[in-house]
Amino acid sequence: MRHCLVTGANRGLGLEFTRQLLARGARVVATARHPGRAAALNALAGDYPGRLHVLPLDVAAARSRGELARELALVLDGQPLDLLLNNAGVLHGGERFGQVAEADLETSLRTNAIGPFLLVQALADLLADGGIVANLSSEIGSLALRREFRTPSYAVGKAAQNMGTVLLSRALQPRGIRVVALHPGWVRTDMGGERAPALPAEAAAALLAVLDRLGPDDSGLFLGPDGAVLPW
Ligand code: NDP
Repeated sequence: MRHCLVTGANRGLGLEFTRQLLARGARVVATARHPGRAAALNALAGDYPGRLHVLPLDVAAARSRGELARELALVLDGQPLDLLLNNAGVLHGGERFGQVAEADLETSLRTNAIGPFLLVQALADLLADGGIVANLSSEIGSLALRREFRTPSYAVGKAAQNMGTVLLSRALQPRGIRVVALHPGWVRTDMGGERAPALPAEAAAALLAVLDRLGPDDSGLFLGPDGAVLPW
């Protein structure tokens, strides 16, 4: 994977994906909502001169997605994008039935589902034949696995994202682009919290290994950190 794009790369899993892709020798475009405040990401740029470009992206905002598409084309300068990691995501904690806020459902849908879907659409012409789109999903978005009322805004957003993943895999199949949903496990980040068993470095390494093992026809799948196929 020579040219990669990682969204939400200023902290958590996105920062770790960026670090590991750079260590593998890739050229990475990493996005942050506020690049000027992305200290860890900017420090990485110093470690890998010329191979890490940090660009602004609020995935929930149409104008920001459009600007990223234009900037990315300039950075790639005719080289195709081998990997698009739709990593940015949001979770509203503490929701209870009867008090779920419309604004939280809306923000989750925009950030977790609508933004990634439209970003893929906007960047489709830059993706390589044989390239991969990986959408960071969650078991919490699986209709088949849901047993309890928990984090509904996030669950609805990731379930909608999952449908987007399936539809995009069909749309991009003729171009040889594979689209998959990935569940990273429960990971110790701001979102996952301190009790999560997996470290970001472990989870990112496991998911990159899953992508390494994807076959040419492995598109439209929902995969866990061990590569097992999860039910939608
Ligand atoms: P974090 O909360 O640690 O980081 C989230 C990242 O997403 C931040 O970089 C944040 O940027 C960015 N982000 C949030 N909203 C937007 C937006 N509108 N536009 C652009 N970027 C945005 O989460 P994790 O690293 O834990 O999660 C990464 C992905 O993995 C997410 O999609 C999440 O749903 C998924 N996941 C995580 C699990 C876990 O246990 N941690 C489990 C299952 C799935 P900013 O700093 O500006 O807020």
